[in-house]
Amino acid sequence: MHSFTVLFIVLLAAGLVLRLWLLRRQVRAVRAHRDRVPEPFAGAVTPEQHARAADYTIARARSEALHLVAGAVLLLLLTIAGGIAAIDAWTGWMGFTGLARGVATVGATGLVLMLAGLPFDIWSTFRIESRFGFNRTTPGLFALDLLKGLVIAACLMLPLVALLLWLMPRAGDRWWLWAWAAWALFSILLSWAWPRLIAPLFNRFRELENGPMRDAVESLARDCGFEPRGVMVMDGSRRSSHGNAYFTGLGRAKRIVFFDTLLEALAPAEVQAVLAHELGHFRLRHVAWRIVASLAAAFAGFAVLAWLAKAPWFQPALGVAAGGPHTLLLLFALTAPVFLLPLGPLSAWISRRHEYAADEYAARHADARALAEALVKLYRDNTATLTPDPLYTAFHASHPPALLRIARLTAGRRA
Ligand SMILES: [Zn+2]
Repeated sequence: MHSFTVLFIVLLAAGLVLRLWLLRRQVRAVRAHRDRVPEPFAGAVTPEQHARAADYTIARARSEALHLVAGAVLLLLLTIAGGIAAIDAWTGWMGFTGLARGVATVGATGLVLMLAGLPFDIWSTFRIESRFGFNRTTPGLFALDLLKGLVIAACLMLPLVALLLWLMPRAGDRWWLWAWAAWALFSILLSWAWPRLIAPLFNRFRELENGPMRDAVESLARDCGFEPRGVMVMDGSRRSSHGNAYFTGLGRAKRIVFFDTLLEALAPAEVQAVLAHELGHFRLRHVAWRIVASLAAAFAGFAVLAWLAKAPWFQPALGVAAGGPHTLLLLFALTAPVFLLPLGPLSAWISRRHEYAADEYAARHADARALAEALVKLYRDNTATLTPDPLYTAFHASHPPALLRIARLTAGRRA
């Protein structure tokens, strides 16, 4: 067995064990605090709601554990057990050759991954989310979403894959720089097209009607230096009762999008505070930082890919004896997360720091107390756990725990 095969298996197993251990810690921490509502939430969250949030978190953690194990098994099946080699042989047998065969193999592997994840999506949506009263999607809408998602993924990804596979053997030693440039262009194009062309395929958007809510939103946006090009309400309630808000767009002209479920749950001052937090992410350049970081990561990724393309051991060590650029691309994309495990906690840590900074920004430009109250309502209505395990949080959480955020907001108010 090649030593790289051994390294891959060891790291995959270690990552799996670590994640399962963290999930176990999370379940224990949540269960230990199930019967007592933490102090800042005591008035707003009933003991029943708190216990339900604990049960919801535990149910999701269990399904996540199963998903992790299944994902690791599938990865072994596709790589070392010869799954990708078999799919590639099959597309050859179907009569595909050259570039078309590469695209067909990548597409078929993507389809296999999607189908393997489907039972977990169905379980999560129709068992867990339904059991806790969040799910509003129907099997018909779910199937339609799936079909639309599949068509969109094929329309977006297959041309990009074709372009990369075309470049790899033709663009000389520096092909990876061209590939990276194509990738960068593609991501910028996608961030432009997503809110305009793709999101409307899944949800209905309408302008927020004139009134106190709209006035509050627009005046705050102007105070923070944004000229909102549209304040939209999205019918998130079609699928789920979870609430959210986000911004889209490049440059100064931003589109503000609220989930209808968020506007129903919060008072105007609270909506303003949530918006101030989102505006903070832009003003403090968190969004620009994320774009630059992802482009830099892609640059490093393509450089490694170019190096692996010249390494004769890489593909055979991962189960593909006679591969080409397309199997190289697949093996790289599928196995890179195994080797990049430590980057997860690092990016979660940066993200949590950004959340605190956006909270501080919101406290300066809107009412800190209103933001704290909005957070209480959002955590309550989303049935998010208030008592996560600290290590689990450090490893996975993109947002700091609710109690710490609220403590900071209320401490800032006293100071
Ligand atoms: Zn945020």
